[in-house]
Order: sequence, then structure tokens, then C-alpha cells
Amino acid sequence: MDEGQDRSGEAVVDEGRDGPGAPVVNEAQEESGGPVTVRGERLARAVEALGLSGRPVLVHASLRSFGAPLDGGADSLVDALLGAGCTVLVPAFTEPWHSVPPPASDRPARNGLDYTLPYREAGHALSTPYAPDCGLVNPSLGVLPVTVVARPGTRRGRHPLNSFAALGPEAAALIDGQDPGDVYAPLRALAERGGRTLLIGVGLNRMTTLHLAEQRSGRRLFRRWARLDDGRIATVEVGSCSEGFPRLEPWLRPHARTTIVHGSRWHAYPVPEVLATIAPALAAAPTLTRCSADCRACADATAGGPVDAYPGTGVVLPG
Ligand SMILES: [Zn+2]
Repeated sequence: MDEGQDRSGEAVVDEGRDGPGAPVVNEAQEESGGPVTVRGERLARAVEALGLSGRPVLVHASLRSFGAPLDGGADSLVDALLGAGCTVLVPAFTEPWHSVPPPASDRPARNGLDYTLPYREAGHALSTPYAPDCGLVNPSLGVLPVTVVARPGTRRGRHPLNSFAALGPEAAALIDGQDPGDVYAPLRALAERGGRTLLIGVGLNRMTTLHLAEQRSGRRLFRRWARLDDGRIATVEVGSCSEGFPRLEPWLRPHARTTIVHGSRWHAYPVPEVLATIAPALAAAPTLTRCSADCRACADATAGGPVDAYPGTGVVLPG
């Protein structure tokens, strides 16, 4: 594969003819005048070019970024990764479903919430508690997590708001540590196994791994409340606002490997290096991730997150 530098200074592999504005079409279909699709073999080549083979990979994807349908849909992307020996890890969040309003007994300050206002998520609450086999995923995450959750053999964590799901040889090792009291166990397991975060046609504001870097920089995660699968209410942790994460691009750029598939730009980041770079950067300059001056979530998170006066995570509340 050719390897070079694009204008942003990122290492670019396998650029080929697939640059933006010059989409590659399937020659056979072009000749026949049929519909243009992105073939699985092209996805498999990109997986190999980015050095993902045999690794666990946390994937955030916009299938629209290809500008053409994938031949086989999101399943073809999953199969390209599995075919390379990867374990596919996805966020399968069900937030704000299953969340409940802040109980009067547990309202920490600096928690990204104004307790004097109606709890805005309460209107979305489902009457049913979360269960790992519920099959539900917030549609804002795109079609890939729904596809992974629906596949036979997928494992899914037990966090009622921010579960992860995984498919492949290391799925159990990634997922089984996640419970209501440990939201980012799958991300730690991903780092311990030399995993990668792969962004497919989406920006750094979708990079969940950076929430673990925030936590390692010394911040507390936000406290929320949710209904468990036995119907009880527990305190749980969730990430804060991620809209400021694109400001971390200069720190992440040296670690990125990039390829372009049919106009869709893929960035792969080694998770251990991301954490080793970003956690100390945020400890030294917490406001780096602040998205805007009037974002309450960013103000509270960059100040260190919630303060005291609440029990530990995963605690089941009375009543
Ligand atoms: Zn923000």
C-alpha cells in the first residue's frame, strides 16, 4: 500500500483513487449501468490497510458517509472486520430510556444538571427496565450498533444507559466487566488488549474513548439514575458533553492512520496511545474539551465533575 501525508499531516494509507470528490465505482456495475454499491472486499482492504487485523476495534460509523449503499448493508462492514479476526465493539446506548429523575436524596452539585428545572429526560423514560437482551439501541447512534446487537452471538453489557456490545473472539473479555457500577470497563479492556478506535465518516465528537481519557485525567463522570432489570433504581455514571472533542485533534493526529473508502474517511487510533496522550493533556489544561462558553455540561465536567454527597456507583437507592 502506498503511504504518504495528506494536507492535514495525517499518515494516509491506501489512498488509491478513493479521495473525496473522486468516488470509486464498481467497474462491472458501471459498465452494466446498474446501481453503484460499495463492496465488502473494498471494506476488507481498508481494515487491513489500517492495521486492524486481529485486534478488538471500537467502531463509530456513518454509513451515509460512503455516498453509496454498502453491498450487504451494515452487515458487510461487520463481516469485513470479523473476517480480519477483529472483535467489533460498538456503543449500544439506551440513554435516555430507562433513566429516572434525580432522587431528592442524591443530587450532587456540578453534575451537568440544573435541579430546579424539570428533568428533561424523564419524558423519554420507558416503563420497562433495561435488560441486555432488550434489542433496543438509541437510533442516534446509527445503524451499525443496531446491526451488531441483532447478530447471533453478540454480548452486551449490563449498564442500563450506556451499554456496549461486542461480537467476535474477544467479545466476552471486552463486555463482561461492564455492570451498572462500571460504565467504561469495555474501554479499559479495549486498551489492555491493544485495541483501536475506528471512526468511519464521523468526527472526534463521536469518540467515546475520550470519555475514559477524561476520567483518567481526574474528572468524575456525571451521575445519573436508572432502572435496572430487576426494577430497582440505581446510581450510574455516564459521559459528559463530547462536542468539544474535535479540539483535541492536534494531539490525536500523530497517532491516526487514515484511509478513504468511496469518499468515506476512516481514522483509526490506538487506544493505549490515545489515553496516554489525552489524559495528561486534560489534566494540564481541563478546558481543552469545552465546546462553548454556555454549555453547562462542559463547565461542570471541566471543573472536575460532580462533588461528594452521593454514594458510589451502582448503588441501589432506597425506595
Ligand atoms: Zn459542551
